[in-house]
Amino acid sequence: MTFDDLSLAPALLRALTEAGYAHPTPIQAQSIPMLLEGRDLLGMAQTGTGKTASFALPLLHRLAASPRSAPKGGARVLVLAPTRELVSQIADGFESFARHLHPQPRVMTIFGGVSQFHQVNALKDGVDIIVAAPGRLLDLIDQGLCDLSQLEALVLDEADQMLDMGFAKPIERIVATLPQDRHTVLFSATMPKSIAALVESLLRDPAKVEI
Ligand code: AMP
Repeated sequence: MTFDDLSLAPALLRALTEAGYAHPTPIQAQSIPMLLEGRDLLGMAQTGTGKTASFALPLLHRLAASPRSAPKGGARVLVLAPTRELVSQIADGFESFARHLHPQPRVMTIFGGVSQFHQVNALKDGVDIIVAAPGRLLDLIDQGLCDLSQLEALVLDEADQMLDMGFAKPIERIVATLPQDRHTVLFSATMPKSIAALVESLLRDPAKVEI
């Protein structure tokens, strides 16, 4: 199988060729068709399996297929990840895959440990994609500086690690501000009871992908 078999937008295929991606990894081959259809998805996969592209490519494809301006103070897609490093890596992935799309989707990162000034400024006009660590994002929501009521898609990456780091409550509070009618994706390397409960509360009839 090649990426050409996956019905992705030509601009995405071009970026993949340039990045040296010829064949989808198993998680990509299984996840991309489900997510292109708009199915919720539960993915069990470790880092290094290509899971970033498995959600970034179909979500970018869907954004490009239904263009609309980013909601002021908010975003169309939110990706939550446990650490600043992972947040930055995921955002870099989105930017690299999106480089040939027109209009170019705007991607921003939100994490703690740095001044919120630039993050707040970038948010004012709205962006297409926010990649965030839960703590700082919740801070901005609580201050009325981020409004995710128009969100279309939510991804929780490394959900088990986020729960281990004590982000269960912040995630619950962030999700309470999102529309119920949204596209939701959750990736976790392990499936303890706490993750099963999160899946039950957040995902609707999810496709399950395990590698
Ligand atoms: P991830 O699991 O998303 O962190 O990806 C792990 C590494 O594999 C990253 O360096 C990606 O750039 C690379 N990668 C992901 N998918 C592919 C692919 N289909 N072909 C080649 N490299 C890939």
